[in-house]
Amino acid sequence: MQTSVIGYPRVGKLRELKFATEKYFKNDITQEALLEQAKALRAEHLKSMKESGIDFIPVNDFSFYDGMLDTVILLNAIPARYRKLSVSELDTYFAMARGYQKDGKDVKALAMKKWFNTNYHYMVPEIEDDADIRLAGKKPFDEFKEALTYGVVAKPVLIGPFTFLKLARYTGTKCAADFADACAAAYSEALKKFANLGAKWVQFDEPALVYDLTAEEIALFEKLYKAILPAKGSVKVLLQTYFGDIRDAYEAVTALNFDGIGIDFLEGKESFSLVSTKGFPEQKVLFAGLVNGKNIWKNNYRKTLESLKKLAEKAENIVLSTSCSLLHVPYTLENETKLPESYKAHFAFAKEKLVELAQIAKIASCGSEGEASVCTGLLADNDSLFATARPDCENAAVRARLQAVKEEDFTRKPAFAEREKIQKAAFALPKFPTTTIGSFPQTADVKANRKAFKAGNITKEEYDAFNREKIRACVKLQEELDLDVLVHGEYERNDMVEYFGEQLNGYLFTEKAWVQSYGTRCVKPPIVWGDISREKPMTVEWSVFAKSCTNRPMKGMLTGPVTILNWSFPREDISHKESALQIALAIRDEVLDLEAAGINIIQIDEAALREKLPLRKSDWYSEYLDWAIPAFRLVHSGVKASTQIHTHMCYSEFTDIIPAIDNMDADVITFEASRSDLLILDALRANNFKTEVGPGVYDIHSPRVPSEEEIVNALSRMLARINPEKLWVNPDCGLKTRGTTETVASLRNMVAAAKLLRAAK
Ligand code: GLN
Ligand code: ZN
Repeated sequence: MQTSVIGYPRVGKLRELKFATEKYFKNDITQEALLEQAKALRAEHLKSMKESGIDFIPVNDFSFYDGMLDTVILLNAIPARYRKLSVSELDTYFAMARGYQKDGKDVKALAMKKWFNTNYHYMVPEIEDDADIRLAGKKPFDEFKEALTYGVVAKPVLIGPFTFLKLARYTGTKCAADFADACAAAYSEALKKFANLGAKWVQFDEPALVYDLTAEEIALFEKLYKAILPAKGSVKVLLQTYFGDIRDAYEAVTALNFDGIGIDFLEGKESFSLVSTKGFPEQKVLFAGLVNGKNIWKNNYRKTLESLKKLAEKAENIVLSTSCSLLHVPYTLENETKLPESYKAHFAFAKEKLVELAQIAKIASCGSEGEASVCTGLLADNDSLFATARPDCENAAVRARLQAVKEEDFTRKPAFAEREKIQKAAFALPKFPTTTIGSFPQTADVKANRKAFKAGNITKEEYDAFNREKIRACVKLQEELDLDVLVHGEYERNDMVEYFGEQLNGYLFTEKAWVQSYGTRCVKPPIVWGDISREKPMTVEWSVFAKSCTNRPMKGMLTGPVTILNWSFPREDISHKESALQIALAIRDEVLDLEAAGINIIQIDEAALREKLPLRKSDWYSEYLDWAIPAFRLVHSGVKASTQIHTHMCYSEFTDIIPAIDNMDADVITFEASRSDLLILDALRANNFKTEVGPGVYDIHSPRVPSEEEIVNALSRMLARINPEKLWVNPDCGLKTRGTTETVASLRNMVAAAKLLRAAK
């Protein structure tokens, strides 16, 4: 049996690409040096896959920032404002990713959105009416040729035209269908080029097929591929899907002239039944996604082999594959030096998954007598992992406490309208109160302090003292800027989830298990190993100290249970609901401790709430929101009416879950709105949104400084749709990735804009 990898992590096992790219951004290294680093990483990735015996090795899964953005270049879909910059191709590319503010030029970045149900973000292509879509980029071909020099006839990976067109935004009057012919022509040409270069297989990623699809969308998909596939010549085409099943498009996909079809049998609830009831075309190859590309637990070989056996009844040719790109798991376990072996034995990161693929494939086609004992040995080793309970996993007290939770524990009293009155009187904030989302720039000194502490070079006291000084300065700065509701700056936090994960029982954390979140940003998700509980207060000391530095309201800062879970690697032996409720009880204790310590504004971030929303609408409530929203409510239902609960969300499209968000029953919600077009405001109005809102007035993912006028404009547009009594003024996310100078300048303009509006109304 052969094996296939859909895609591999790009940033390198120690985030080499991130560091090189950031140096390039700062002009510390040349473009050549960055390209060299990238090349070295690609070589290493190819080598790992080759040595593991992977048969279908991807290329062009590498990216300097994002694969959708690569496709924009490939298809010549660069919006005019970036073309006009007249900078190098790579800098045009980075300008689309991050905005460009230099030499009197000032251009915003493209919008960024979550990639399906992952914590990876893609750049949203903007297609203008006069876009001249054609094959313009060289990257996939260059990377294919590069692999040849290492003796690898790789499988080039392209984001397919359907997914590209479906996820793009159209700035004019045209829509996806208007670009279908041009797109099909570009992909046809790409296939011909690959054929000439000697490629055997090309992979088209079409994850958009796992959404609910309309007949029109399926027709567009068919039209595209009917036009593209005749161009394939000697190249075989693998239509790769992932993140779910393709129930709406299954007939269309199997009827088209693809040579291989990649299906996700882990996240695709109906994938098995589709294959078994509708059959699988005889002459095609089924790329069976059975090795999890999203989670870090060891594969259960016996289960996977059973699945393969079941599939073999329907499909003649099977290639064992990852369920999606390995981009979503960390690089390797090799650099985890602190986890005990008894724990580590249960994990497989990207590099280890290569071994799993090879071993399972070997067992699946174990032929000769001589091989039999090797196969039996491999299987027995794997079996032993699942034979007994994992160490330190279950906690009876946690389970009992969850059992005892009652229906009324999910409802805060009194109702919102009454609380709103009480809080307005208690806080007496000015109209359009200004605040920030929590973190302030994590400057080099902040990181150095943490590093020194982790390396054991300074004591806990020294570490804390440094952070207290940062907090003191941060509070002072906010007073100087004249912000209304202050924050402590989150200097003590490396990451909004890991910080809590490290303090909660039941969590494991890693040293180098980074996963790309967007561009050069990586996150290190902790692992939910067992039942979750809180040992002691986690944030109270910091918040109390910060409050002691000012007379203004100080906002306590927590991460909510859904986000903590969504940004962790979850357990597979209990439901997500159960884990979320366990975490909710732990955070609830923290909320009550903060309140008791005098912190009467508490923000509970749910940045990732939307992220795990099932891709199909029909599953939204039953599989997710029906427990996720109650989990959030359980966290804050115990506070007094006068305690103001904030929440924050970002990166996603929320327009369609507005009622669910209102139902979280927070008092204030701040969210990302500056990169998207404020459409969400119409949705708030249409849904009669009760919660007070702070739609972000500027984009913090870009270093550019918004002018006061720009912010006044954004606020005026908001005021056209939002009750002025409910509008808050804030950036669209935390400031930790930003530099100090731009942060101070931006906040100064933001406060000035709020004051201008106060004076005007
Ligand atoms: N409070 C967090 C911060 O300010 C929120 C981060 C986020 O939403 N991603 O960094
Ligand atoms: Zn955010």
